[in-house]
Amino acid sequence: MNVLVTGGVHGYETSGVQGAILFMKTEAHRYLEHFNILCCPCVSPWGYEHIERWSAGAVDPNRSFKSPSPCDEAGAVVELIAKLGLKWTMHTDLHETTNSDFTEFVPAKAARDGHKLSNDPVPESIKPSDCPGAAYARKVFGNRTEMSHSEIKEALGEHPSTAKDLGTMNLEAFERFIVEQHLPYL
Ligand SMILES: [Zn+2]
Repeated sequence: MNVLVTGGVHGYETSGVQGAILFMKTEAHRYLEHFNILCCPCVSPWGYEHIERWSAGAVDPNRSFKSPSPCDEAGAVVELIAKLGLKWTMHTDLHETTNSDFTEFVPAKAARDGHKLSNDPVPESIKPSDCPGAAYARKVFGNRTEMSHSEIKEALGEHPSTAKDLGTMNLEAFERFIVEQHLPYL
C-alpha cells in the first residue's frame, strides 16, 4: 500500500515541514513493513523560506493541484505522482492555522491583494453556520430572534467575561460574535 505525506504546501505553515521531516526520520521505519511512504516535506520551498502562504507568483499551491497548474510547485507534485503511476491508499497533507485564520490567513490575503485589512474579522472560509457554538445557541434559543444580556451570558458559559460589554443581540449577531471571538467550542 502506498502512502503520500506532504508538508509545506502553504509555506507559512512551517510545522508541517518540520513534522514531515521528523516523521520520516523517527517514525516512518515502523510502518515500512506494510506501507511504501513517499514524502514531499516542503512542497512550496519559496513560501517556506519567506514564510508565505502563496508561491513566489502569488498563487495558492493548495488550489493548484491540477494539470496544467498555475503554480510550479503544485504542478511538480502533480507531475511526480502522475509519473509514478501508483495507486494510493492514503494522502496526509500537513497544514495548520485553523484557529488563527484571522491573525494569519486574512492579513496575508489582504497583503497579497493590496487590500486594506477589512474590519470584518470573520474569514470568508468560516460561515457562522459552521460553528458548533452557533448551533448550540440556536438550540438553546429556539426560534426567538433576540437574546437578552443574561441569556447571552448563559450561552457563553465558561466565557462570561467576553459577555460583559454586550447588550441584547439577535441570533445572527451572536453567531458572528462567537466566530469573531474564536469561541467555536462553547
Ligand atoms: Zn494550509
